[in-house]
Amino acid sequence: MEHVNEMPPTGKIHLDELTGIYNQQSFFDFTEQLLTEHPQESFCLIYWNIRKFRTTNDLFGWDAGNKILVHWANTLREMLRDELAVYGRLDHDNFVCCVTEEFLSRDDWTKLGEISYFTEKTEYHFYSCCGLYKITDRTLPLSNMIDKAKAAMETIKNNYMTLYAWYDESMWSKLLEEQRMNTEFKTAITEKQFKVYYQPICRSSDGLITSAEALIRWQHPTKGMISPGTFIPLFEKNGFISVLDRYVWNEVCAMQQSRLDQGLATVPVSVNVSRVEFYNPSLCDDIRNIAKNHNISPDLLKIEITESAYADNPVQVLEAVKKLHAYGFSVLMDDFGSGYSSLNMLKDLPIDVLKIDMRFLDDLEKSQKASIVLESIIRLAKWMKLSVVSEGVETQKEWEYLRSVECDAVQGYYFYRPMPQEDFIALLDKTAANSTNLLFHATQEIDESILNLFNQTNTMESILFYSMLGGMGLMEVSGNTVELLRVNKSFYEVLYGSTSFEHKILNMKFPAEEERILLEQCLIAKEESKIQQFQLHHHLDTGAYVWLSVKIRYLGGNSPRALFLIAVENIEELKQAEHNHFVSNYSNVLLKLFDRVYRFDYPTDTIELLHSRGDDFIEPQVQYSFASFFRHLATVTSANELDKLNIIKDRFALDETLRQIHENCLTIRYELTSNETVTDTTAYFFKVDLPDGGHQYLCCVKKLY
Ligand code: C2E
Ligand code: CA
Ligand code: CA
Repeated sequence: MEHVNEMPPTGKIHLDELTGIYNQQSFFDFTEQLLTEHPQESFCLIYWNIRKFRTTNDLFGWDAGNKILVHWANTLREMLRDELAVYGRLDHDNFVCCVTEEFLSRDDWTKLGEISYFTEKTEYHFYSCCGLYKITDRTLPLSNMIDKAKAAMETIKNNYMTLYAWYDESMWSKLLEEQRMNTEFKTAITEKQFKVYYQPICRSSDGLITSAEALIRWQHPTKGMISPGTFIPLFEKNGFISVLDRYVWNEVCAMQQSRLDQGLATVPVSVNVSRVEFYNPSLCDDIRNIAKNHNISPDLLKIEITESAYADNPVQVLEAVKKLHAYGFSVLMDDFGSGYSSLNMLKDLPIDVLKIDMRFLDDLEKSQKASIVLESIIRLAKWMKLSVVSEGVETQKEWEYLRSVECDAVQGYYFYRPMPQEDFIALLDKTAANSTNLLFHATQEIDESILNLFNQTNTMESILFYSMLGGMGLMEVSGNTVELLRVNKSFYEVLYGSTSFEHKILNMKFPAEEERILLEQCLIAKEESKIQQFQLHHHLDTGAYVWLSVKIRYLGGNSPRALFLIAVENIEELKQAEHNHFVSNYSNVLLKLFDRVYRFDYPTDTIELLHSRGDDFIEPQVQYSFASFFRHLATVTSANELDKLNIIKDRFALDETLRQIHENCLTIRYELTSNETVTDTTAYFFKVDLPDGGHQYLCCVKKLY
């Protein structure tokens, strides 16, 4: 047969630079020529696409990708050498050919479906799929014929078992429908025709709602409700999906924010991330920013990644999962078991939740094997500390089965269908109002027994709690304020130094500085979900300070409102003992240089002799009041020294003076008269910093002989 591709050109020939076969322009020119020159012959159009070509490029680089394209073109050339055919490369990894119908009746043309290619280092296997269109109406523009072959190809693009598909008219109407949807997309977004539906996910053991999944719907003005199965594959092809996904994430975060702002109950909501998002390097940051913009903590937004996305793009998906974790988001592996990846991938991919594909439940009735597989998956997940959600639960029987194999959570029509936001919110309100199903705007459920302790007054537990267990209280953090909702008697005594206790004390607040510390510690307790223990210098109403040891435990709830249990203990005595120990060590050292060391305690107006070396000083008592102590220093040597004496009487004046003096030490010289001997003496006043942040004033005395 005539070798059309080497036909003498009637015009300029345009070859594809990479592969050397015809490019789009020449393919059009020569195909039209072929059809005119052979009016009696029956021709078909073939449209090929190389499967997963993008992944090949990503994994092995552009060079390898190019080599594969060249190899593919060469194979095509080889195969069509003796045929009446025109072929070329349209763009990327898309090839076209116009060839006789007779050629397609032979089997060997399908060998283009799988091709191996060897380099020195690597052996590549790649697969293609194609659409076929029999040219029945030659008056159609060639571009239209190519579209038809392409439409046929699209129907099997994700079906790896099928090599080719013939075009039929229904595909054309689908294509038109798709084009229409594409042109309507922008308007649909701006007019908010896309609606987020929520499907609750329930705890297996009791059916309590613990989270939900956001599912998109298109409320079309003329066509009614369109399901995502219709438009998502389409928007994945042209990239609109990334706009749509972000729209959904924003809507979900806005819903969560409004619940929290009103102090209402909510649950975490998981959102779907399209497979094509993993080509977008800003994916994780986009998710984080959307959550941040709505003031939503990452535990209220979970991320669903479909299993096949991992099969397509393992490297990018792994990176994204790690990053999402670093940002605090949980990741769910969606449609697990539906596709091509094995259980093995679980050890490589650090996900948090497995969502088992609903097809498992369909197969359960039919085969025992399905239940064995399902049970092993659940067991494996348990070992790996993953929780498991089963999708598509439609009957009581399925639920019971899943409960019996300890699947953690269930989602499906048996419990709830996906519902509009208004219905979902109403459901949350209803569930929260029912105290047995308390959710308390919580990601972490609150252990109800704790609340009961505070609410009832005459049970054995509460008697214990109120009088014996030490100081305890229930504290709410809302925004930047910390409020005590309920406290027990000991708590009150510790904090107020008073025993006149009332059960319901509202608006108990901490001084601002202490509130700041508590807030900080609460955040850590929540974030790291552990008990925070620290010491607090608590300012009593009387003006005095006490040292408290404080423990805080996060109970549940989320910003801006979260609940904490607080336990307090007065450690003033302990602290005092520590002080004394430190000061007495310190003064022992000082005594090597001085003769006596005194401690000044301003709040109690006492001066205490800590250590003394000489025995020639008569010490009438070990503790003095300020007045009696200063009588000792009465005979100061000059007016200047008298001024200093007055400074020492006032703690604030002393602080100020010490700050200004270079050595941090105020010196007073005086004459000490005892047994009619006058001794020239110097007293040194210091302020000593203690390890716990407190201070001590010391006076060290040295005689000058
Ligand atoms: P999916 O993520 O596997 O979602 C679960 C699908 O199962 C939903 O279909 C849900 O309505 C359906 N379903 C739930 N319970 C049952 C049941 O008991 N029986 C049966 N037969 N089906 C049940 P839907 O809403 O049509 O969504 C289809 C798919 O579209 C989703 O599958 C997801 O892959 C995709 N999708 C939905 N919303 C979004 C979105 O916002 N972004 C992206 N990228 N994909 C989305
Ligand atoms: Ca999903
Ligand atoms: Ca799923």
